[in-house]
Amino acid sequence: MTNNFAVALDGPSGAGKSSVAKAVASRLGILYVDTGAMYRAIGLAVLRQGIGEDDTAGIVHTLPGLSVALRHAVDGQHVLLNGKDVSGEIRTGQAAQYASKVSAVPEVRAFLLDTQRALAREQSVIMDGRDIGTVILPDAEVKIFLTARPEARAKRRYQELAARGEPVTLESVLADIERRDEQDRNRPIAPLRQAGDAVLLDNSSLDLEGTIREVLRIISEKTGVHS
Ligand code: C5P
Repeated sequence: MTNNFAVALDGPSGAGKSSVAKAVASRLGILYVDTGAMYRAIGLAVLRQGIGEDDTAGIVHTLPGLSVALRHAVDGQHVLLNGKDVSGEIRTGQAAQYASKVSAVPEVRAFLLDTQRALAREQSVIMDGRDIGTVILPDAEVKIFLTARPEARAKRRYQELAARGEPVTLESVLADIERRDEQDRNRPIAPLRQAGDAVLLDNSSLDLEGTIREVLRIISEKTGVHS
């Protein structure tokens, strides 16, 4: 029996972390944990309660009334907000913007930290986010920082949103990505940055399959585990 291992996959929005992590998890038979979905669920709760995205006190005030849980089913990860499945509702541009704002609040990060760490204690995981390798799982066996040029990331995110029928333009998606990058990189708590011991993978000119293969190669090199 092999020991549990953790893969921390961090990077900016639109680098393809979730598609890559989902595929890698299924090929290796390990759990995929999308931490961004948890911040999005809190962002959605704040939005629904009519609290402003910059109202830190209001955001902190909602936390005791919230529960955020992940349920893993055959069709992937579901996010439950106070017991209700909000996996679809969290995927809008507005929920993403609120997620980015609430995630800069220390109390929100503390609120989610134990849940995220507990998931990695129980089984082998690939966890994607912004601070997995630096804060949540500093001892992860594999750390990868996945990034791409902003234009490449915007194009992918645009295609994803357009396919879902969201009324967006490539320019507006690029502007959103640049704004969120800026917020995520410059916040004082858990800023987006590459861990010193993470492998940098720029997939600007790789497609999804190429990126998956590269990630599997890095995992196998570090852990000896193959797909
Ligand atoms: O990855 P995703 O786009 O779903 O994340 C939404 C937002 O949640 C990000 O813009 C980021 O601000 C925040 N986030 C974070 N830490 C994580 C995962 C996401 O701050 N581990």
